[in-house]
Formats: sequence, structure tokens, C-alpha cells
Amino acid sequence: MTKPLWESWAEIETSLMTADSLLACFDYDGTLTPIVSTPEEAIATPQVRGALRELGSLEGVVAVVVSGRPVKQLLELVPGEALWLIGHHGLCVRSPDGEESSMVDEETATKALEPLREIGQRVADASPGLRLEDKGSGLAMHTRNASRLAAKDAAELFCDEAQKLQGFSLFRGKEVYEVKPVGFDRGQAILALREKVAPEALVLYVGDDTPDEDAFRGLLDLPDSVTVKVGDGTIETAARYRVDDTHDAVDLLRRLRALRGKKG
Ligand SMILES: [Mg+2]
Repeated sequence: MTKPLWESWAEIETSLMTADSLLACFDYDGTLTPIVSTPEEAIATPQVRGALRELGSLEGVVAVVVSGRPVKQLLELVPGEALWLIGHHGLCVRSPDGEESSMVDEETATKALEPLREIGQRVADASPGLRLEDKGSGLAMHTRNASRLAAKDAAELFCDEAQKLQGFSLFRGKEVYEVKPVGFDRGQAILALREKVAPEALVLYVGDDTPDEDAFRGLLDLPDSVTVKVGDGTIETAARYRVDDTHDAVDLLRRLRALRGKKG
């Protein structure tokens, strides 16, 4: 049963503050920045970037930004020197000192997507407002700015073709249909990172969309973990808590920095 975060805040605040070690994970789009019509417009405010930098620099805190974006793109949006970055929904990880690892053979996956890339691009070119995002080893069809009819047709076609591919999974997010190699999801990536850098850490995960559910579910095995779904209270979620919107998510980030700052 998912509860409103702020109603349980007193209790959560204590555990977030007192944990010896904290792994604090925030999704980027729709969590730290509002959803906008093109990904290029989703720029975190200087306050958010500052809060992330400070949080990541605190003793006893590992701060992580998680996204469907490639790690290289994330680096332009958040202060990578203070953060662990998990890109492409768990397939790529970058440490604060710049070491990168990938769970997929990029070249093979990129090649295997060639037929879908061609079809997707043709579909996107045919209607204004559709956009095919090429992540190399992944593809995403964005339909937010298209007419409803074009969005529906493009989604159907893209998903039908995507389902024919071996070794890839398809998921539907907010006005986006995305294909990525099977392997690591966000939950698995976070559990692996915890194992590697902070095996006893209390985990916080904040996210707003379908791929975040992999993290919410993956963290159910850690009974103390604090998982927070951002937005739409009508959508079913595996998260333990909910907040209304990105303002709440950013507020949570600020509170966390203050809480853990006091501790040191
Ligand atoms: Mg998101």
C-alpha cells in the first residue's frame, strides 16, 4: 500500500538522517525537472544541481542520478564529479571519477536495431511532432508533440516491429515507446552499485515513470528502503510512498541535503 510521503515524514526523516550510509537515487526527467516537450529543454535549475553536488560530497552519502538518457548526456545536465550516474535505464554506469562501465555490447546491439531504426525514422519523418531518439543500443519513439492520431499509429507500428526483435525489451513510458537490450534494469543496477560501494546503505529511490517501477520492485527486498513515486496518484505503483510532483521531489532532495549536512 502506497502512502503519502509527507504524512509519514517524521519517521522517514529519522531513518534517512541516522543511517550510517545512504544511497540516494533520483531519476532525472519528470523527477528533478518537469516534463517538457523536448528532452533538450529539461534543464535542472542551478539550485537542483547545487543540491546534488552538495549531497554527493557529504560523508556517508552516495548520490546517484538515474535516467534513460545516455551517461554522456547526463554529464551535461548534472554535476558528474559528485555523483554516480546510471544511464540508459541501468545499462551504463559512471563513477564520480569518470570510470564507465556498460552491461551491453554496444556495437552488436546498435546493429541489431538497424531494421527498427529504419522503420522508426520513416514513421517519424512522415508526421510532424514525432521524434525517434537514437541511443545507439536503444531507440525511443517520442509522441508528445504529435497529433493524437499520428501518435497512436506510430506507437502501434513501432511496438509491433519492436516486439519482433530478439534480446530486446519494449516498454511504454509517458508519451514514449522505448526499446533497450534485455539485461540490467534500474533496480538491478542500483542493487549492484550498492553491493559495490555501500553494501549496508539505506536506499532512497525517487522516480516518476514506468522504468522506475523496476527500481521500486527491485528494492522491495530491502525492507527499509524508501521508494517514492512522483506524480499521478491514479497509476498503480510498487513504490512505498508518493509525492505529488517535481516540486516535492526537489523539496525532498533539499531536505535530504540539509538532514545529512547536519549529521556531519
Ligand atoms: Mg522520469
